[in-house]
Amino acid sequence: MNNWGGSVSAQHDDGQTGKNLLRHWQDCRTPGAPIPSYEAVVLGSLGRLADRAALVTTRDGRAARILWAGQAFGAWLADSAEGPSAETLPVDALPIELREPVDEMVAAALASAQPAYGRCDRLAAGVVTSTRLVGVPLGNRWGEPFVLIGLDGASVRTELVQAMFTATDQGILALSTIRDAAGRPVDFKIVALNRGAERLLERPAAALQWQRVGQLFPGAVTARTIATLAAMVERGGRSAFELSRPRSDGGTLYLKVEAGCVGDLLSVTMTDVGDIKAREDSFRLLFENNPVPMWVVADARDRFLAVNDAAVAHYGYSREQFLSRAPADLAVAAGEATGLGPPSAAGSLHRRADGSAIEVSLFQRAMPFEGRQAVLEAAIDMTERRRAEARIAHMAHHDALTGLPNRVLFRDRLAEAITRHARDGEEAVLLCLDLDKFKIVNDTLGHPVGDALLREAAERIAGCLRKDDLVARLGGDEFAILVRAMDLPALADGLIARVIAELGRPFRLEDQDCHIGTSIGVACLPRDGTDPETLMKNADLALYRAKAEGGGTFRCFEPEMDAWVQARRRRENELREAFARGQFSLVYQPLMDARAGRILAFEALLRWHHPEHGPVSPAEFVPLAEETGLIVPIGAWVMQTAFAEAATWPETIRLAVNLSPIQFRNRNLVETVRGTLAATGLDPRRLELEITESVLLADSTANLATLHALRDMGIRIAMDDFGTGYSSLSYLRSFPFDKIKLDRSFVSQVGENTHCTAIVRAVASLGTSLGIATTAEGVETAEQLAMLRAEGYDEVQGFLFSRAVPGPEARRLIDRGREAVPDDRAA
Ligand code: C2E
Ligand code: CA
Ligand code: CA
Repeated sequence: MNNWGGSVSAQHDDGQTGKNLLRHWQDCRTPGAPIPSYEAVVLGSLGRLADRAALVTTRDGRAARILWAGQAFGAWLADSAEGPSAETLPVDALPIELREPVDEMVAAALASAQPAYGRCDRLAAGVVTSTRLVGVPLGNRWGEPFVLIGLDGASVRTELVQAMFTATDQGILALSTIRDAAGRPVDFKIVALNRGAERLLERPAAALQWQRVGQLFPGAVTARTIATLAAMVERGGRSAFELSRPRSDGGTLYLKVEAGCVGDLLSVTMTDVGDIKAREDSFRLLFENNPVPMWVVADARDRFLAVNDAAVAHYGYSREQFLSRAPADLAVAAGEATGLGPPSAAGSLHRRADGSAIEVSLFQRAMPFEGRQAVLEAAIDMTERRRAEARIAHMAHHDALTGLPNRVLFRDRLAEAITRHARDGEEAVLLCLDLDKFKIVNDTLGHPVGDALLREAAERIAGCLRKDDLVARLGGDEFAILVRAMDLPALADGLIARVIAELGRPFRLEDQDCHIGTSIGVACLPRDGTDPETLMKNADLALYRAKAEGGGTFRCFEPEMDAWVQARRRRENELREAFARGQFSLVYQPLMDARAGRILAFEALLRWHHPEHGPVSPAEFVPLAEETGLIVPIGAWVMQTAFAEAATWPETIRLAVNLSPIQFRNRNLVETVRGTLAATGLDPRRLELEITESVLLADSTANLATLHALRDMGIRIAMDDFGTGYSSLSYLRSFPFDKIKLDRSFVSQVGENTHCTAIVRAVASLGTSLGIATTAEGVETAEQLAMLRAEGYDEVQGFLFSRAVPGPEARRLIDRGREAVPDDRAA
């Protein structure tokens, strides 16, 4: 067993032939000649070298004949060449394993004019003998050069079978059969084994050789193996099988065993197939657990070789049913109804166990499976894809928040309506909606609440529609409705009125009732446009107009609106710029003690000095500032300026400042007031804030809290423009106002109009009974003053005393004291 490697034969050699021959050849060279001559090298001077050398003639740069050979060389040749007759032996007559190396070496020596080397391998009786050769070119004065060749060093002999036996990774065992008394094979003795077998069986050769297999490896696996081998020995021939046995490292050894026998002698080859097994295992894992239905087939008409769980689940056939069928059996027969329509180019229609049809696209890949060529087929699940595509298409045309059609779909439908009109003359109406106070809810209560509001608004709108109407969410709080042919007055009384009423109902959000409302712009096809852009634009203009008129209403498009909207948009921009450029100022109008005629307070009023149009009335631009939200920064500026001014007045004189309901939407109002008071040093008890009923109209819970917070600071709260609003009395009860300011529209007609006179009187007595101070504004005449005094008003304000004047002038009025007041005794 230990002698399975190669062996160096002791064929005679001094180990120096090659070296000596080379040195001799070198020594014989003469200057000017590339190679030494035959005479110089060979004649009389080769000595012992001649024994292991031979002289070769050449022709055309190649070996021709062996002219003579020394004794050892001749013996070497004789091992393979028959009857060496050195004088006459043509190189061509040598066996191929000698001829080729000799010829190649000779050619190389001639071509390079240098020594060349070669090697001959000869095979005899399962032994390879390798011999190195050296060749030196020699000049020949009679013809073509000679080449002197010599055996170089020892020949190496290698036992071929043993080399192969040793080199392979496979384990090889030679076994002899052990028979029982009855002559039946019962076990096997290990006669010989290689390194591979040592490795695979994890025992050293010494522990294995001459042992019985059954005793070495007791157990079921070995018993089965012995039975298999025994059957083979009885039968003769070959056998191949796989077995697995635990490895010492805890893993499992998977072996492929191939055995053959000659009589009672067996040759057994063991191959480690662990890697292949691992690959198969990972394939199985990927295959079995893959969510995509897959199967393995030899070809489409053949039966399934394997199917995975996803295929079983998806198709509804059991594994057994699958394995008894062919893939062709899945296909829906041509012309059969499926309800899916024809398959797409990449798809095929399959029938499931429950009879339903699905469209799949099949991906195939050739692969070996259990030792045979097969095809792995994956059925990608297109019905799902179609569903996904439908979902994507839906998403592209619908609003994710409300589920309503989106702008894209609405435009399509509008275009269709326009086409219908062009074809059949069918009319249509386009409504553009915008929620009036959505922004406040969204800003103050947060986006989730805003989203909930939008969803409910969408539902309410949709609930107003008839079958053929279409509602879409265009974005933000904008909606649009497309109504098929109908006359406008009927639409206004019906659908439009319903939508306005529905969105006018309070929305219950976070435990409070929010009043939102909507404005609607209307454009008719064909009157207001015959293309989508124009119709949308005109409905938008009408909407803008409805908004400008306070919201909660609708407007139909009129051609003048375009110019109006443009002018308004311009003014909006101007307003923004005016504020930025400091074109605003404040003037102050005094409030007088109705009896003593003293100045009690000044009301701060805004002025806009337009560079072209001159002074612009706040009645004109305050609503615009409110709509655009610009009133919030403007209001803060008013407070800052007025508080600072009033801080310079005597402490007995108060300041009145108007607050817009929009300022209440800003949750920082209380902090702004407090901060500004602190910054300007104005005593809060000298401040009066004038608000209108509308503050209590929307969002009243929060606004009441704000009012209380302000009042708790010592600030007085006045109800302005009293009498012009809605249910005045209930508002007066909802908050402890410090003052009521009767609207000047009543004052101007007091004594002339009996209704007005009655209201003036009623408000006075209301104030008395509720203990609230009363102010009459817009007092222009002494008669009015006399009547108001008679009715018991506490304060008066009006042109009769003074117009609103700039700050310095207000200070002069204070200084002049009673001078500005007409002599009350005269009245
Ligand atoms: P308002 O609060 O009712 O202010 C009184 C308005 O009546 C002022 O008009 C004042 O100039 C005018 N007025 C006073 N006495 C008489 C009179 O004897 N006869 C007549 N015909 N008018 C008189 P103005 O200054 O044009 O302000 C109009 C409205 O603009 C104010 O009505 C108020 O609602 C609003 N406003 C003015 N300044 C501000 C402000 O700083 N903030 C807010 N939010 N609104 C303001
Ligand atoms: Ca006022
Ligand atoms: Ca007023």
